[in-house]
Amino acid sequence: MKVKFWGTRGSVPTPGKDTVRYGGNTPCLEVRLHKGNLVILDAGTGIRGLGDALMATGESVKAYIAISHPHWDHIHGFPFFKPLYISGNEFTIIGAQSPKLHLRQMISDQMDKTYFPIQLNELKAKIRFHPVKEESIPIFDATLVSIFVNHPAFALGYRINVGGHSLVYISDNEPFDREVARSIKNVDKKIVAAYMKVKGDPNQRIFDFCRGADILIHDTTYTPEEYVNHVGWGHSHYLFSLKIADEAAVKRLVLFHHEQTHSDEKVDEILNTCLREIRTRNYKFECIAATEGMELDW
Ligand SMILES: [Zn+2]
Repeated sequence: MKVKFWGTRGSVPTPGKDTVRYGGNTPCLEVRLHKGNLVILDAGTGIRGLGDALMATGESVKAYIAISHPHWDHIHGFPFFKPLYISGNEFTIIGAQSPKLHLRQMISDQMDKTYFPIQLNELKAKIRFHPVKEESIPIFDATLVSIFVNHPAFALGYRINVGGHSLVYISDNEPFDREVARSIKNVDKKIVAAYMKVKGDPNQRIFDFCRGADILIHDTTYTPEEYVNHVGWGHSHYLFSLKIADEAAVKRLVLFHHEQTHSDEKVDEILNTCLREIRTRNYKFECIAATEGMELDW
């Protein structure tokens, strides 16, 4: 299994000299299964570069695109993904939906002619939509498992299992706190109810979902100090990411969804603090921060 990071930044693209190493594109991951089969996680602005790389091969593309949720930073690159404009290519879009917002509409609304010159139904590739809830579905020779996470409206985390290998991708997720959930009502009621009914720590749902993963890619938007001013925004601080990695006994944690104002130096500082915490607490996993263009192979 291989993964390449085409976009690592949260919320909004951040080009410029201060973000050259960790990257300025919003979330998009290229996952290659054993036979080279392609699964794309999120369609942030990073997907444009992936599209260009796929076009350069000259080969037709058959892939799944699993969208975590419809906030801009996770769908914004979709209309700029050139393989969608080529007939013979086939894509299955996976994602959650609500009674108010169907999966197809989630993609097509941002391509409404008010906002973009080409509409979804004008794309030449064959595009299928596969709405999911919390479930497990076969994709190629792998299994894709989904879980609702704690983020405004709704968002999914994904786990890909194939041939004894596993990767978990949770791009946007806030530590679930019962008191906060009672006062800030910005998350879908059914998702809140699922976390509320867990005995003990409600985040146990996430720990169990991540259990034993080879790689956990998790939202690490804030420092704990910054998080205090962003409760209810749907993102994590690094101590929570470390806790999940430890509780779930994952092999490697990848800090992801870097905060829009964090420079390369700031992300270095966060990573170094995490590595110090890991040593102090005698945690057993490796920890790295996602950089644009980084490839992991295992
Ligand atoms: Zn995001």
